[in-house]
Amino acid sequence: MSDIAVILPDGTELSVEEGATVRDAAFEIGPGLGKDTVAGVVDGELVDKEAPLHDGADLVIVTDQSDEYLSVLRHSAAHVFAQALQRLHPEAKLTIGPWTDEGFYYDVTNVELEQEDLEAIEDEMRDIVEEDLDIERVLVDREEALEKYADNPYKRDILENEAAGDEELSFYQQGEFEDLCKGPHVESTGEIGAVKLLNISAAYWRGDEENDTLTRVYGTAFESESDLEEFLDMREEAKERDHRKLGQELDLFAIDETTGPGLPLYMPNGKRILDELADYAKQLNLDAGYDPVETPHLFRTELWKKSGHYDNYVDDMFLLDVNDEEYGLKPMNCPGHATIFDQKSWSYRDLPVRYFEDGKVYRKEQRGELSGLSRVWAFTIDDGHLFVRPDQIEDEINLIIENILTVFETFGLDAEVALATRPEKSVGSDEIWEQAETQLRAVLDDSGIDYGIEAGDGAFYGPKIDFAFKDALGRKWDGPTVQLDFNMPDRFDLTYTGEDNEDHQPVMIHRALYGSYERFFMVLVEHFNGKFPFWLAPEQVRILPISDDQIGYAKKLQYELGDFRVDIEDRSWTLGRKIREAQEDRVPYMVIVGGNEEEAGTISVRDRKEREAQDVSVEEFRDHLRAEYDEKRVEPDFLDDR
Ligand SMILES: [Zn+2]
Ligand SMILES: [Zn+2]
Repeated sequence: MSDIAVILPDGTELSVEEGATVRDAAFEIGPGLGKDTVAGVVDGELVDKEAPLHDGADLVIVTDQSDEYLSVLRHSAAHVFAQALQRLHPEAKLTIGPWTDEGFYYDVTNVELEQEDLEAIEDEMRDIVEEDLDIERVLVDREEALEKYADNPYKRDILENEAAGDEELSFYQQGEFEDLCKGPHVESTGEIGAVKLLNISAAYWRGDEENDTLTRVYGTAFESESDLEEFLDMREEAKERDHRKLGQELDLFAIDETTGPGLPLYMPNGKRILDELADYAKQLNLDAGYDPVETPHLFRTELWKKSGHYDNYVDDMFLLDVNDEEYGLKPMNCPGHATIFDQKSWSYRDLPVRYFEDGKVYRKEQRGELSGLSRVWAFTIDDGHLFVRPDQIEDEINLIIENILTVFETFGLDAEVALATRPEKSVGSDEIWEQAETQLRAVLDDSGIDYGIEAGDGAFYGPKIDFAFKDALGRKWDGPTVQLDFNMPDRFDLTYTGEDNEDHQPVMIHRALYGSYERFFMVLVEHFNGKFPFWLAPEQVRILPISDDQIGYAKKLQYELGDFRVDIEDRSWTLGRKIREAQEDRVPYMVIVGGNEEEAGTISVRDRKEREAQDVSVEEFRDHLRAEYDEKRVEPDFLDDR
C-alpha cells in the first residue's frame, strides 16, 4: 500500500497508509493520543475519528482537551434530546439536529410541543445520560437506510441530496435510538455532564419559507453543572441587554410590520448615536486621506453583470423591472465606486485613490433569519474602496488595520482577527487568489497580530481579513473586513498610467471600520448595556430642578451647556423619582438644582454611577464635558476624584 501525507497544525507532515483514518493518524503520532482521540478536524471540518484521510489534508486531532470537544459533546446531546423526545412522543419525526455556538438544536415535526413540555423531555434526557449508553457508529447500506426512513420524508430528502452518491451511510446508535448522522460523537451518553433545553421556535425545512414549518427546540450541554450555571447566568445578563429590548426602552429604533421586515427605523435617540458614529468614522477617513463619494440605491443590472454580482449574488438581490429594463438595489457599494474611479484617467503618482461612503445596501435574507438589527434587509456600510499600485498594498493594508484597531480601542472592544480564504463560488484565476492570499498573510505576519484561518470564507472576488468584536460579555460579533481584490479592477478594465507610460491595472481594497452600522449599533447597545459613553449618549445631561421654582434657572443652564444634548425634567415629580427615571434612561450626567444652587449660581452633579458632588461651577463642568466629548472617553469621569 502506498503512503499519503497529512499536514499537522505545526506545519509538519505525517506519513500514513492510504485509507488511514483520523484515529490511525493519531496512533501514528503516539499511542496515548490515539486512545484519547474523540474526533478530527480535516480541512477545517469537524469529522468522526473513523473518517478517512486524503493526501495533503490539514489534520487536527480532537481530544476531550480540545476546543472542538464541546461541539462534539453538544451534538451528542442533540441525539440525547431526540432519543428522549421519541421515548415520550413516539410519533415525532426527526429532521436535523446540529450543534451551534451556544449548544444545539433539533428540528422536529409531527408533534405538538410547548415550552412546558420541555421539562419532562429534559428529565428523560438526564435519565439517558444516567444510563450511560454507548454511542456507536454503524454503517448501513443505502436501501436499508431508505427503508428505515420510509415514513420520514426529511431524512429521505437528505439521503437523496446531501448523501446522494453514498452507498454506505453512517448511523449513530445509543440504546434503542439511532439517527442518520455524519458525527462525530462522544463515546457514551454518560460523558455529557449537564444538559438544558432552552426554548422552542418555528423553523422551515432547509430554512426555506416555501417548505414545511418545523418545531425547533434549542438546548445546550456542558461537561459540568458549574459550566452550565455560568452559561445560564451569562444568558440571563444577555437577555437583559438584548438590543431589541433596550432599543424599545430607550427609544432607539423600531422594526414595524407595516413598513416591512428587516427594515429598521431609527428614532431621534438612535439617529443621534448613528450621527456621532458617522462623524467619528468620517474624521478617521479624512485624516487617513480618503475622499467622500456618493452613489444611489439602485443601478441597472448591467452593472451587476459586469461586477459579477449578478452571477454570484443574484439570490440575495432585490431586482426591479423599470420600463422593461432590469434594475437591482445595490447589495454592495463597490461597483459604484469602481465606476467613479473609471470616470478619469490616472497616473501612478495619483495612487492610492481612496473613496468612502456611508452606503445603504440591500440584501434579501430569508425572512425567518431576520432578527433585530443583527440580520436585516437594509443596512448601511461605512464603506471604503482603495485603488492602489501593487507596491502600495502592504502599506495601505497596514494603515487600514491600524485604523480599525483604533476604533476597537475607542469603544473598549477586543478584536479577534482571521484570514478568510477562497470560497467555493468565486471569480478569478488560481494564480491571482494565491497572490492575494499570500500578501494578506504577509501583512498579518509582519504586524504580529494573532490571527486564525477561516478556510473558504473569503468574498467571491478575493480573500479578506475579518475582524470580530468581542463585547463586554465575551461574545463575538462579525465586525469590519479588509478585502484584497484583483478581480473587480479586471472586470471594470480599470487602469492607471505607469512610470513607463504604459497602462497598468490598480488593485482594489475593500474595507470598513465598523462593518455595518446596524450590526455595530447592536453590538454597542449590548456591550454598553445602553450606558453609552458621554460622546455617544442621545441625551448627555438631564437637568433636574428640585421644584418648579427652579425651571427658569434650569433653562439658563441648558442654554449655557448648549453645545451638548441637554434636557430638563419638568414633570412635577419628587427629586427621588426624577433621579430614578434619569438613571433608568442611562443619562450619563444629572444636574440637580434647588434654591441654594440658584442663589449661589452653582450646580450639583450626579452621574449614572450614583456619585454626586455639590457646589460645582457651571464653567468647570462645561469644560470637563468638552474634554470628555472630544477625547471620546468610555465612562463619565467628572466625579472620579471628588
Ligand atoms: Zn447527528
Ligand atoms: Zn466593496
